[in-house]
Parts: sequence; structure tokens; C-alpha cells
Amino acid sequence: MTSSVARSVRAVLVTVAAMVTTMAVATPAGASPAPAGPHGQQSRPCRNGYVGLTFDDGPSPTAPDLLRALQREGLRATMFNQGNNALARPELVRAERRAKMWVGNHTFTHPNLPQLEEAQRFQEIASTQWVLRDITHHEPTLFRPPYGATDEAVRADADRIGLLEVLWTVDSEDWNGASVDQIVARAATLADGGIILMHDWPPNTVQAIPGIAQVLRDGGLCAGKIVYTPVAVPFGSTSFHAHAVKP
Ligand code: ZN
Repeated sequence: MTSSVARSVRAVLVTVAAMVTTMAVATPAGASPAPAGPHGQQSRPCRNGYVGLTFDDGPSPTAPDLLRALQREGLRATMFNQGNNALARPELVRAERRAKMWVGNHTFTHPNLPQLEEAQRFQEIASTQWVLRDITHHEPTLFRPPYGATDEAVRADADRIGLLEVLWTVDSEDWNGASVDQIVARAATLADGGIILMHDWPPNTVQAIPGIAQVLRDGGLCAGKIVYTPVAVPFGSTSFHAHAVKP
């Protein structure tokens, strides 16, 4: 390289460096390079992942209202049904399936499982499995112990029946009289893979569905299905192995 060519190259580099500096100054600090908006990258749905919406204790007589609210928002959820309620209202279990919901096992009579004798404990889960399979012609794969009360023996029962234990990462507190706004605020704390506990009977829960749909959209999250994960998800003094993924 001659010294004059080297000088020219240096001059170009200095000019480019100056341009880059000017552009950097012209961009306000902290501004996002891809603008948010209806046509920007930021509006891509599900960009931040999937969450599991779960509704326990049904199907109750008001389940059709909940299903309508979910369908209106295009949301899919996991319904942890009790065997006794499924037996009393089998048409509502079928309605859940028709509405594209996943049906899980929540025991027959909603007992505190660790307090039961071995045979009774197994029966609570197994009989519910038979009832749900009879009604839906589909084998449930997910299990939620009532009150989230579980131990090694409960887990072993669920295992023998081929069920994955599903606890939660967010409690909506809808069972505890939470307002519509409080339920929506809880849902807004869901992170990718997370699972929220709700119930199919509180009127506030049905009322909260549009708000939940909105905070999920705002957060770039979509409703997903619940599957096994090797990761131990913390739950009080124990942990579980389930998370939400793309359906
Ligand atoms: Zn329950």
C-alpha cells in the first residue's frame, strides 16, 4: 500500500467513524431499534412464550359461561375436573373438550390426599380417571392434587396411573374472594412456561377472562398446553415437573 492510498483509506475510515458517531447521537438513549406497534416486531404474538391457564373443581353448572368467555378470547385452558362433578354433568365435560380445552384429573371428592389411607387415596385418583375416560374417550394425562397437597405417596399413585402432577407458579386467589382486578393483576405476573391456578366456579373468574386475555397479549404470551419438564419448578417446600408450551 502506498502512503497516499493509506491516507485515503484513513480519511474514509475517519468519515465513516464520524457518521456512526452522528447516528449514535441522533438516536435517543434507550430507544428501541424496532419500534413497537401494530406492524413492528414487538407485536408478534407469543413472542415471550406460553402460559398454562388452569380451572379446577368443575365442571360446575356455570362452566358454559366460562367456556364461552375463553372461546371469545381464543384462549385454551386445562380444566381439572372432579370425578363426582364429571359424573353429575358429563355433557359439560364433553363441552370442555369441544371448546378445545384439556381435561385433567382433580380427584373424585376433593379430599386432602396425604391425609387418606393408601387404598382410598389411590381410589380417589383412579376412579376419576375411569369416569373422565368413559365420558371423553380420551385418557387424561394431567393431575392436580386438591389444595396442592401432595407428598411422595400421592406422586407415586399419580405415576402408577400415568398422570403428571401439575401444581402452579401463580395463585389467582379466586377461591379466596379475589376481585376481578386482583385476578387479572395476578395473571399479569405469569412468566414463560408458568401455570396459574383458577377455578371454574367463582363469578369473578369468568368476569376476569377478557382482562386476562389483554394482559397476556400485552406481555407477548399465549395460552399453552401443560407438559412434563425435567426442570424442578419450586412450589413451597417441594417442587413439580410441569410447564406450559406451544399447543
Ligand atoms: Zn380444587
